[in-house]
Amino acid sequence: MTYEDNEIAKVWETLLSSDKYRVMIADISDNYPNKKSVNVDYDDVNMYDITFASYLLEEPDRCLEIAKKAVMDLVPNMDRPGHGINVRLFNLPRDAKVEIRNLRADHLGRLVAVEGLVRKVTTVKPRITYALFRCARCGSEIWMEQTGMLLKEPMMCNNPDGSCNKQATRFIQDLKQSTYTDTQKVEIQERPEGLRGGSQPERLVGYVEDDIAGIVTAGNSVTLNGVLRSVEKTDRDKSTVFETYLDVISVDFEQHEYDEIQITEEDEREIIRMSKDPNLYDNIIRSIAPSIFGMEEQKKAIALQLFGGCHKEMDDGTNLRGDIHILMIGDPGVAKSQILRYMSSLAPRGIYASGKSASAAGLTAAAVRDDFGDGRWTLEAGALVLADKGLACIDELDKMTDQDRSSLHEAMEAQRISVAKAGINATLQCRCSMLAAANPKYGRFEEETSIYEQIDLPAPLVSRFDLIEILTDKPNKKHDQQLSSHILDTQRRGEARMLPEGTEIEDLDINEIMTQTNILKPVYAIETLRKYVAYSKRIVPVMTADAQKIIQDSFLRIRGLGSGGSVPITARQLEGYVRLSEASARMRLSRTVTEQDANNAAELIEAYLNRIAGNGDGTYDIDKIASGVSTKDRNKLDTIRSILNEFGADGMALEEIVIHASSQGLDQAEVERALKTLNDAGDIFKSPSGIYRMT
Ligand code: ADP
Ligand code: MG
Repeated sequence: MTYEDNEIAKVWETLLSSDKYRVMIADISDNYPNKKSVNVDYDDVNMYDITFASYLLEEPDRCLEIAKKAVMDLVPNMDRPGHGINVRLFNLPRDAKVEIRNLRADHLGRLVAVEGLVRKVTTVKPRITYALFRCARCGSEIWMEQTGMLLKEPMMCNNPDGSCNKQATRFIQDLKQSTYTDTQKVEIQERPEGLRGGSQPERLVGYVEDDIAGIVTAGNSVTLNGVLRSVEKTDRDKSTVFETYLDVISVDFEQHEYDEIQITEEDEREIIRMSKDPNLYDNIIRSIAPSIFGMEEQKKAIALQLFGGCHKEMDDGTNLRGDIHILMIGDPGVAKSQILRYMSSLAPRGIYASGKSASAAGLTAAAVRDDFGDGRWTLEAGALVLADKGLACIDELDKMTDQDRSSLHEAMEAQRISVAKAGINATLQCRCSMLAAANPKYGRFEEETSIYEQIDLPAPLVSRFDLIEILTDKPNKKHDQQLSSHILDTQRRGEARMLPEGTEIEDLDINEIMTQTNILKPVYAIETLRKYVAYSKRIVPVMTADAQKIIQDSFLRIRGLGSGGSVPITARQLEGYVRLSEASARMRLSRTVTEQDANNAAELIEAYLNRIAGNGDGTYDIDKIASGVSTKDRNKLDTIRSILNEFGADGMALEEIVIHASSQGLDQAEVERALKTLNDAGDIFKSPSGIYRMT
């Protein structure tokens, strides 16, 4: 079915004369150019004429051009060059939705709705739409409409009212009177949910013009509605291969947090039923990477992280983070990367990235000047921004760039990243949980050295993690046997699974293999668990007085365990307790945080503090984490400093310092270590002949 121009005009005239659009157009008449777009809901078109509505998807350029004319007839003073009103169609139907990876030549020239995360935006820059020229000879005005990339100048002076009608004349452009429109180039990438099997996200470039330029920013989750177009690749040689881009007509923002996950009423009944299962906790933990053996404590922590604590906004506007951050430090080959990849595909909005990623934005965000912006500055979102409201799985955190090192802790705590550079002034949200993995300082944990000394990350960053998990790989007969059985069973089950249904092999019972290894099947299918998690986020559990008491007691007990003036635990860990216990309550969709939840949290935190901050004698010292130097060590440093201050005006040799220090209970090794720390910190100076003095 095709429509003649006048039929199309008729449809628009009727549609736009309804009350809803009459009000909108009157508003534009009054407020032009502050208001210059009529936003037409596709549903209204569909309701009015279903056949036309589908024709509109096929022939958007012609239909919208006519709509534009129809609107402009209704608004006064639209006859000046460069004045115009946009008709922006939004809320496109399901069958107009196309995934980036499925965009094909068929879609060219058609109206499509493409969902994605905004990865890059350029600064908003004006583009000239109508250029005004004056003839240098007679002064008459000539308006030239500008469409392409190059400025079009008049060929001759042919203004009908009294121009000189000469060809070879000079024209002077009037920049001030010419009309402009705002333009912006954006790049979206597929949402992680669209990606199955760990494939790389595909990207699409969109051009945004006029009053919708500048409304999206990096990290937004949007649907771009527009017309797919192609441009020739700008290679030196002419090419028959074209690049596609989207000429954006309107932008729909995601309304609700987990919109991409549809939960039906039936799902809801199933979710409630699951939540009442007495084995719920175990089932959830057993659904997390079942092919990975052991790691019970880690999986428990990660399960809590998946549900997360509650984000809170206080009366005074302060925001309290609810997201739980977990750091896993471990020997190579203990399945850190594997669990991270698993979690990035399980969690709603999960993003996997490596600390040593090649992208300019790194883990946070950056303003860059590259090909994408054609010389303009571009704001590019990194992993934490793309994981906004989701889970950022960051592998090899210890290999991150210096830029990330300095900005990451702010991103983790305040959950936003500010970029102010070269005309870009943006604050990007990164309200995500972070699951990070790192190797120990020397590649593998050394037994003689304490664990905190082997964490190769800046102290402010380390202290932002709610939990730090340690994974060591030491030969152990029983463990090795179980681990190898588990891995081999996984492989065997994998082989059996690949066979076509009903295959029989001589001397081998395929069914038996499957039943024997049934433990490797997640109790809850990934899809189900993801829905469960998304649903649980609707619940905000509140602490009971009993739970509060348990948390407080645990906090106070550990706080009292400091030794020799050390601070065993800070308020930062106290917030961690709360987040973990809220997550525990959420896991069973409970409206209250109970004693059991508080105990779950306390158990994990106490175990973590014991590992990292334990002095080995039942006392804790959180300064090891918070500042990277324990109180005991700091006292040693003070001792050396005071010796140098007292006796070292002319410098001291190592032997001298050792003699003085031994009377204060330090042995030679301790002195050497302290001297090295002070030297590294620039507090003291060591001459080439081995003489130390204060700087
Ligand atoms: P990492 O990132 O810690 O260096 P990887 O995630 O790359 O280690 O793991 C290496 C491989 O070792 C994985 O593919 C996995 O098959 C195996 N592996 C290590 N530990 C386990 C485990 N506990 N359970 C199952 N497989 C494991
Ligand atoms: Mg790894």
